[in-house]
Amino acid sequence: MRDEILKLEAASRQLEPTAPLREKWTQQVTAYSDNFIDNIEEIKAYVISEENGRGVLQAPFRESGREMEEILGILKEHVDNVGLNPASGGHLGYIPGGGIYSTALGDFLAAVTNRYAGIFYGGPGAVRIENQLIRWMAGLINYPKGSLGNLTSGGSIANLIAIVTARDKKKIRSRDVENAVFYLTKQVHHCVQKAIRIAGMDESVIRYIPMDERYRMSAEALKKQVASDKAEGLRPFLVVGSAGTTDAGAVDPLNDIADIAEANDIWFHIDAAYGGFFILVDELKEKFKGVERSDSLAIDPHKGLFLSYGLGTVLIKDVKAQFDSHYYKASYMQDTLGVNEEISPADLSPELTKHFRGLRLWLSLQLFGVAPFRACLEEKHLLCQYFYEEIQKIGFEVGPQPELSVCMYRFIPLSGNANEFNAKLVEIVKQDGRVFISSTNLDGVNWLRLAVLSFRTRLKTIDTLLEVLKKGVAELT
Ligand SMILES: *Cc1c(COP(=O)(O)O)cnc(C)c1O
Repeated sequence: MRDEILKLEAASRQLEPTAPLREKWTQQVTAYSDNFIDNIEEIKAYVISEENGRGVLQAPFRESGREMEEILGILKEHVDNVGLNPASGGHLGYIPGGGIYSTALGDFLAAVTNRYAGIFYGGPGAVRIENQLIRWMAGLINYPKGSLGNLTSGGSIANLIAIVTARDKKKIRSRDVENAVFYLTKQVHHCVQKAIRIAGMDESVIRYIPMDERYRMSAEALKKQVASDKAEGLRPFLVVGSAGTTDAGAVDPLNDIADIAEANDIWFHIDAAYGGFFILVDELKEKFKGVERSDSLAIDPHKGLFLSYGLGTVLIKDVKAQFDSHYYKASYMQDTLGVNEEISPADLSPELTKHFRGLRLWLSLQLFGVAPFRACLEEKHLLCQYFYEEIQKIGFEVGPQPELSVCMYRFIPLSGNANEFNAKLVEIVKQDGRVFISSTNLDGVNWLRLAVLSFRTRLKTIDTLLEVLKKGVAELT
């Protein structure tokens, strides 16, 4: 048996590359990523390709490996050169972020050391880092000491954790689901409806509260709806306020919603996945008035702090409630009990084994400090305001004055269907490829959207978009 084992060992040792091979691979990967970043301004924001990435399928997994060179070639041609390029500053659609380089370095370190940040017993330093980050974010929105939460893969899971925690805290059991009422607006991100379904509350009542002309929840309408639901014998359960809606960038009247939630014992959750970090900008703080009165909040560092995809956060005031919904006990984990200087992330989340995803944010904040993030957010806000002014000068109609960094606009042609005209404009921008925009449909009206949140979006980028749109209109009329 020993001989057999030693034979296998020789083969399995391939999984631990030698120092020279590590160095070679690292150099090749670094050369690839340097080339990517050095040319990021020339690489298109959107690449239309007939081949559409199918080439990856021509490299099936074999018993023996391939050369790094060949693998990077596949990546370049069939992955990084088709479709949307989210790293481009020209990504002005959906909600961009960019992906700052320090994210990659943090992930690299986290992957090499493979520290476990799930349970304090195993990774006390790693868990402290994750909880330190969560407390820092809780501090930004003025949550009281003792609040905590969890670092998640993104805003969707953050919203889910909050809703599950609220469900259990408010003691909504199966038989209560039908009577529980959610209060949303039509502008709430669809991941909230998805979370409601996953949380087993699909049969609950969902009230879509009317909005004002700026797509913000009407507090007056909310108040009336809650009163009428109570009169009907229903159980007002949870209200979702948005601090930056995806479509329109609107911030709901958080303070007024807090008043109503408080008076009626309703869980107040805020979805700030897109907009939350704008609270770092002094001039925008006022818009977040009342944010600290919520019970829970979702906020995405992979949006507002420009990190690469893979980091959202849920903040929850009542840690015990979050724990009660998510804690983990298994006999094989018995050694970990009792070591609790810090609450373990695994007890506040559906996950157990997980990526040490805090390291990328910790490294970034340590390397840069907070100031460049603050400046970058203010710059993005102003770029959006600038666009809002300039786009009107070339004859476009605009939606509400942008609150954070999303602007809605459209062109109304003298004749013909305006919706079709604007859909064609999106196509023209895509064909050009230097910048990428998306559109949305509100009450039957097609709006083009500008979302400025990639850290690489500059004044020059906005000018390019204005130029492409102007040319597009000329082409179509
Ligand atoms: C992006 C977004 C989400 C979803 O977050 P993911 O990180 O994509 O899972 C939720 N709410 C809002 C307002 C968003 O912009």
